[in-house]
Amino acid sequence: MTVFVNDPCGIICITFTYAALLYADYVIIKWVVMQTMIDSLWAPVHVVLFNTLIFLLSFAHLKATCSDPGVVPLPQTKIDFSDMHSGTEGLLQKENWTVCTRCETYRPPRAHHCRICKRCIRHMDHHCPWINNCVGERNQQYFVQFLMYVGVLSLYAIVLVAFSWIKECTYCSEEISIKQTRILHCVILVMESTLFGIFVTAILYDQLEAIAKNQTTIEQLQSGSSSSYSMRRMCFSQLCRFPFEYSPLSNSSSSSSLHSLRNSTNKSLSSDIV
Ligand SMILES: [Zn+2]
Ligand SMILES: [Zn+2]
Repeated sequence: MTVFVNDPCGIICITFTYAALLYADYVIIKWVVMQTMIDSLWAPVHVVLFNTLIFLLSFAHLKATCSDPGVVPLPQTKIDFSDMHSGTEGLLQKENWTVCTRCETYRPPRAHHCRICKRCIRHMDHHCPWINNCVGERNQQYFVQFLMYVGVLSLYAIVLVAFSWIKECTYCSEEISIKQTRILHCVILVMESTLFGIFVTAILYDQLEAIAKNQTTIEQLQSGSSSSYSMRRMCFSQLCRFPFEYSPLSNSSSSSSLHSLRNSTNKSLSSDIV
C-alpha cells in the first residue's frame, strides 16, 4: 500500500533533502571532479560511485516515504465501545489491546496514534518529517538504509573535497573568480555534509539501539530507560516530531489493557495517549 501524508512540514523537508542532494552532486561533479581531476582515471570512478550512492539513497528514501509503516486498519463498521464494560469473549482474547478514540478502533500492543498521519501505526517508532511518514513496523528497514546512505555519502563528499584541496592540482584554473567560486561551493558542501552526517549518525545510533533492544524510540522515551535519554529527546524534539505525549501519565494510559479499561469509567474511555 502506498501512502502519502499531506503535511506541509514533511513536504518542505523532503524538498529540502532532494535539493541538498542535487546541490551536492552538482558541486562534486562541477567543482571538485571536473576542476581537480578531469584528466585522471579517478574522475569517472568518483562520478559513478557518488551517483550510485545517490540513487541507492533516493530509492531507500522513496521506499520509506511511500511504504505503509504499519497502519492499523479501520473497522468496517462502527465499534460499539459499550462492549468494553460487558466483558464479551471477543475482547477477552485481545489481551493488552488498547482503544484509539480517534480512529474509533481497537489497536494491538505497541501501536500508537500519530496525529500527523491521523492513524494508528503498529510498532510506531516516531514520525519523521524527513520522510514525511511514520517510522513503523513495515518501513523501519528502509529508514535505516536511508540513514546509512546519507552518512556514507556525507563522509564521501567531505573526503573528496579534502582530497581535492590536499592534492596538488595541475588542472585547476588560476582565474581568481573561479577559485573563489570553487572555495565557496566546497565550504557550503562540507558544512552541509557535516550537518547531515552528524544528524543521521545520531538518529542511526538511536535506531540501531532500539532494534537491538527490541524497543521503539517511543517506548524508550516513555520508560526513560536509555542512558542517552536526555540527548536523544533533545535531538528528536528539534529534528523529528513526536505527535503524541510521552509523560509518565500517558505511558500508563497507553499500556492499559482492555481488561483494565473495561473496569474503568466512561471518562477513561474517552482519554487517549495522544
Ligand atoms: Zn488511532
Ligand atoms: Zn505519522
